Amino acid sequence: MLKTPSGQLQRCRQDFPILKQKIHGKPLVYLDNAATTQRPTVVTDAMKAFVESDYANTHGRIHALSERAQTHFDEGRETVARFIGAEYTDEVVFVSGATHGLNWVAQGFFGPHLKSGDRVLVTVMEHHSNFVPWQQLCQRVGAECVVIDIDDAGQLDLEQLSVELARNPVCLVMAHVSNVLGQINPVKTCVELAHQHGVKVVVDGAQAAGRIPINVSDLGCDFYVFSGHKMYGPSGMGVVYGRRTHWSNMQPWILGGGAVATVSAEQVTFLAPPACFEAGTQHVEGVVGLTAAIRYIESIGLSVIAAHERALGQYIWQALSGYRGCRVLGGMPDCGLISFVLEGMHPHDVVMLLDQLGIAIRGGHHCAQPLMKRFGVMASSRVSCAVYNTRDEVDVFLNALGQVQEVLGAQ
Ligand code: PLP
Repeated sequence: MLKTPSGQLQRCRQDFPILKQKIHGKPLVYLDNAATTQRPTVVTDAMKAFVESDYANTHGRIHALSERAQTHFDEGRETVARFIGAEYTDEVVFVSGATHGLNWVAQGFFGPHLKSGDRVLVTVMEHHSNFVPWQQLCQRVGAECVVIDIDDAGQLDLEQLSVELARNPVCLVMAHVSNVLGQINPVKTCVELAHQHGVKVVVDGAQAAGRIPINVSDLGCDFYVFSGHKMYGPSGMGVVYGRRTHWSNMQPWILGGGAVATVSAEQVTFLAPPACFEAGTQHVEGVVGLTAAIRYIESIGLSVIAAHERALGQYIWQALSGYRGCRVLGGMPDCGLISFVLEGMHPHDVVMLLDQLGIAIRGGHHCAQPLMKRFGVMASSRVSCAVYNTRDEVDVFLNALGQVQEVLGAQ
């Protein structure tokens, strides 16, 4: 039996004005949080206050507003570093999102060194944003992109991984939490295995940030990437964590103002990391929003959020597993994220009918086509929870799904 959320969690719904509305005359039930989460007022207020009173370009602290903007920016980096357990603040680089960050690591760090005959390990469950950059990079230089499989429950094939790690690959790239299956991958174990072979590990934390506690120092990974908009923060804002020792092997990839110390007609010298990796005008209000989102998450407690989402996810999983004609992809999820296929019904139809009932979920391949193929389906429906979702909302969704099944089943 699922426990009701604590008063604190029930109250937190009030922090998200968007949730108060009706859709097609029904109370909104927002269960599309793996695509993007909603933002609490403290995040939008912080961004508005910054833009209305402290906004200026950073880079240089030339005047009072610039000084204030730079202070916000620096505070944001410190907050992110603490939030993810980075040892040093300069291990945090701001990017526009997880997709940008993963391309940045692939092209900027590995790209210049990868050569014909090299091997890169990716898992079959990767989001396209952590699959295509590696596949294309490998194809360009004649390297091999090796796909690590999972079992039917969604667990990584650690035997295959061990065999492949012994074949001297350059890196392993893997999701911390699958955006389709909702299970938490054993990143720490994989990093330990990989490092025994001198293999670097890049972790896509897009579905982990804001859902479960992250400590990059404890995980031991080489790179960790995530987006702000999936953790109650703004879109257009993301983070790459990279171990400080790797910066000396990385040439700035995006070149321009703000990243350089001196430029002549013949040559350039760069600023020290992380500034040399952040060319161009930065998304300072995004950093302010991300900082506010982290403070919001911390005010509730990530372990409280993780336990709440896991309880909702497992409740949904159990209900759907007993549903006639419903196939749930993978095993019991570790968080509130479940994908399923209803026999004879296209996920888009399911999503559209639920929308008529005020319920927002997602249907499609979830940018994980290799994983869809692994499960022998073209697409699935996905329900994903966040801190503000309640057991009552989940029941509304489960009951509505029954109605959808009747409607579509009768056709
Ligand atoms: N990685 C995973 C696991 C995701 O779920 C997503 C987005 O859904 C991404 C990467 C890409 O994130 P963004 O669209 O914020 O760049």
